[in-house]
Amino acid sequence: MSMTLRKMTPAECLEMLEGAHYGHLACSSDGQPYVVPIYFAFKARVAYSFSMPGRKVEWMRRNPKVCLQIEDWPAKGSWRSVVLNGRFQELPDDDTWHEERIHAWSLLEKRLNWWEMGSLTPDAVPLAYASPHLFYCIFMDEVSGRIAAQTDQLA
Ligand SMILES: Cc1cc2nc3c(=O)[nH]c(=O)nc-3n(C[C@H](O)[C@H](O)[C@H](O)COP(=O)(O)OP(=O)(O)OC[C@H]3O[C@@H](n4cnc5c(N)ncnc54)[C@H](O)[C@@H]3O)c2cc1C
Repeated sequence: MSMTLRKMTPAECLEMLEGAHYGHLACSSDGQPYVVPIYFAFKARVAYSFSMPGRKVEWMRRNPKVCLQIEDWPAKGSWRSVVLNGRFQELPDDDTWHEERIHAWSLLEKRLNWWEMGSLTPDAVPLAYASPHLFYCIFMDEVSGRIAAQTDQLA
């Protein structure tokens, strides 16, 4: 049984990103890469996430060029992987970003259950505003995807 590798179409990449909620976020500063696992929600070519202040946020503020990677294993002996390059944008609660911030929250609170999310309810949104938590998004610039499958699974 042989393996086949093919490129995913842009539409396949977007569909996979929209169905995903977990990935690896890479940023870099002063020539040093940094990768961490994150939860996110993806809609209309934008990835949204939620964070405490820390290294990744500081680095993305310094250098907004970031990369988000996801993968899955749809069947035994096969995998799919998507790499997105994009630009970090913080979503502060100001006139410019308020609506996008609310949009981010509405997408994230539906899907996510990480350490702080799990303890919040929609009624607690004002707490998130008052806390050091921050919302950000990644505007997609380019995307690529690859699928590896056993030959008999492609038929
Ligand atoms: C399943 C999963 C989902 C997650 N979802 C989110 C999310 O949605 N949003 C979010 O902000 N964070 C999420 N995290 C945590 C995230 O991976 C980081 O640990 C966290 O955000 C802190 O990153 P920071 O750059 O602010 O680190 P800082 O608190 O600033 O700490 C920096 C230091 O800690 C080390 N470090 C930081 N994170 C990790 C790590 N994950 N593994 C090993 N070393 C680490 C760095 O190498 C560096 O030395 C998730 C983690 C997991 C496992």
